[in-house]
Amino acid sequence: MDLRSFCEALPKIELHAHLNGSVSPQTLKKLQKLKGNDDESIPDIEMFTSLKECFQMFNLVHSLTDTPEAVFLATCDVIQEFHDDNVIYLELRSTPRSVKGQMTKEEYIEAIIKAIETCKFKTPGILVKLLISVNRKDGSANAEENIKLAIKCHGEHPMTIVGIDLSGDPTEGEAYIKLLQDCRDVGLKIAAHCAEVPNEEEVIDILNFKPDRLGHCTNIHPNLKGTEKIYKMLLDSRIPVELCLTSNMKCKTVASITEHQFAYFYTEKHPVCISTDDKGVFNTSLSAEFQLAGKHFGLDNEELKDLSLSAVEYSFATNEEKCKLSEKIRLFSCSK
Ligand SMILES: [Zn+2]
Repeated sequence: MDLRSFCEALPKIELHAHLNGSVSPQTLKKLQKLKGNDDESIPDIEMFTSLKECFQMFNLVHSLTDTPEAVFLATCDVIQEFHDDNVIYLELRSTPRSVKGQMTKEEYIEAIIKAIETCKFKTPGILVKLLISVNRKDGSANAEENIKLAIKCHGEHPMTIVGIDLSGDPTEGEAYIKLLQDCRDVGLKIAAHCAEVPNEEEVIDILNFKPDRLGHCTNIHPNLKGTEKIYKMLLDSRIPVELCLTSNMKCKTVASITEHQFAYFYTEKHPVCISTDDKGVFNTSLSAEFQLAGKHFGLDNEELKDLSLSAVEYSFATNEEKCKLSEKIRLFSCSK
């Protein structure tokens, strides 16, 4: 089996996927139709060469997911597409949104949960969970509001809402450690975007808090604008890192794939998983990300399968769910 067919057929675990960024151009078309403005053109994501174009895509998704109905449709499609790519476990993350006169933050979350519930029957081969995102740049009042909502929704849907995602530009806000502790106290897991820009002080704060998982960790190795001190801290922590190759290259947080932090962490046997970040905006899929890892870091089929298998352990699924997921991956033959 060639690398591409292998990566497509391999049962995979997606742990870092933003709902809005995962919406595909096909779904954008449907959303436009829902809004009654289907004569507007959708940008061709394959032609994107700049970050500016990628961000225009985010804005378009936002403008089209402004009702519970649209959020429901977008979520169902995203789940279906991951399922079609043989993803057997998906953790979506999203920042609660309100649109005046159309949708409250609670209705936004309820629409996502409804889509996840619906997909349990439509696509039983994929198990889906949700992390509530707290964006640093939205300020402390928003952070408090979203965390209160996350704790409430977790109480009502403990099997679906399983964690908090700390996202956004660290230069524009703080890490809200106290609020994250409140979440941890009620059983929510914490995934934190970390070191997307050089910022030693914040990395130390985050690592001292010991989140359950970290996103990116780009500027931590001394060769990648990090320092020996934080690199050692990260390796000692053994906290799994979610790595998104295409996203980091398109956002130019790394100069080229061969310089990506994956190489350092993988060599050190630090726990890592491969993720898409925003498959719609960055025109990728989880199998495409596995192919990149295989091709550029020389991983053979067994090693790629091991990456998928170890991601089960880093997921926020229950122990029983983890056993079933691991079994599915173990049974997959590398040589067929
Ligand atoms: Zn992200």
